Amino acid sequence: MIPIEDIARTLARLRDRIAEATARANRPAGSVTLVAVSKTHPAPYVTAALEAGQRVFGENRVQEAAGKFPALRPDWPDLRLHIIGALQTNKAREVVRIADMIESLDRPRLAAALAEAMAKEGRRPDCLVQVNVGEEPQKAGIPPAECDAFLRQCLDEHGLPIRGLMCIPPAEGDPRPHFDWLAGRAARHGLPVVSMGMSGDFETAIACGATHVRVGSAIFGTRG
Ligand SMILES: *Cc1c(COP(=O)(O)O)cnc(C)c1O
Repeated sequence: MIPIEDIARTLARLRDRIAEATARANRPAGSVTLVAVSKTHPAPYVTAALEAGQRVFGENRVQEAAGKFPALRPDWPDLRLHIIGALQTNKAREVVRIADMIESLDRPRLAAALAEAMAKEGRRPDCLVQVNVGEEPQKAGIPPAECDAFLRQCLDEHGLPIRGLMCIPPAEGDPRPHFDWLAGRAARHGLPVVSMGMSGDFETAIACGATHVRVGSAIFGTRG
């Protein structure tokens, strides 16, 4: 973890790198949204980032997010919370209550649970379908070959507000073919959001068409 006083500086540096990568890709300025991944970092770190102008945050655990974010909303009404981690169906109602975007919709049972939770809560956070682009057995996400059918099921059967696709490519090897695949598949379906790229590869992701990059350690330091 970095000293809290450094957050404004690490964020500014990251914004510069995002702007440069966006320009290099001949994409319009501001077309990439930074999702600041604050998982494991205490609420004062989030507040420091808010004070430095950051508004979109990512958390991978519903419980941790519920402990940090609802209390910040009165003072920061335009803050946006993205849930980016594996979700159990028994957390569906809570995630629907607290999230503005659910990036980790990865299986039919979760789609059904989220649809039911949205009906009960009267709240419809945007959803992304997470694709296991590297077909890694240990990783969450719908297999690439099932992506189209799962999207149809989410939209037609459950009426979910699907806005795009998300992936975490394999840690080893070139992420580019995976990023290209995800961006292409989102475009084919007319989906506006492509969430890909983390601290180590967000510039590549931007070159491949990411609209959202999820960056944690490059802002807040390594997690203990
Ligand atoms: C933790 C996490 C990130 C951020 O990773 P960093 O390498 O710290 O930038 C991005 N996406 C997901 C899904 C994560 O769980």
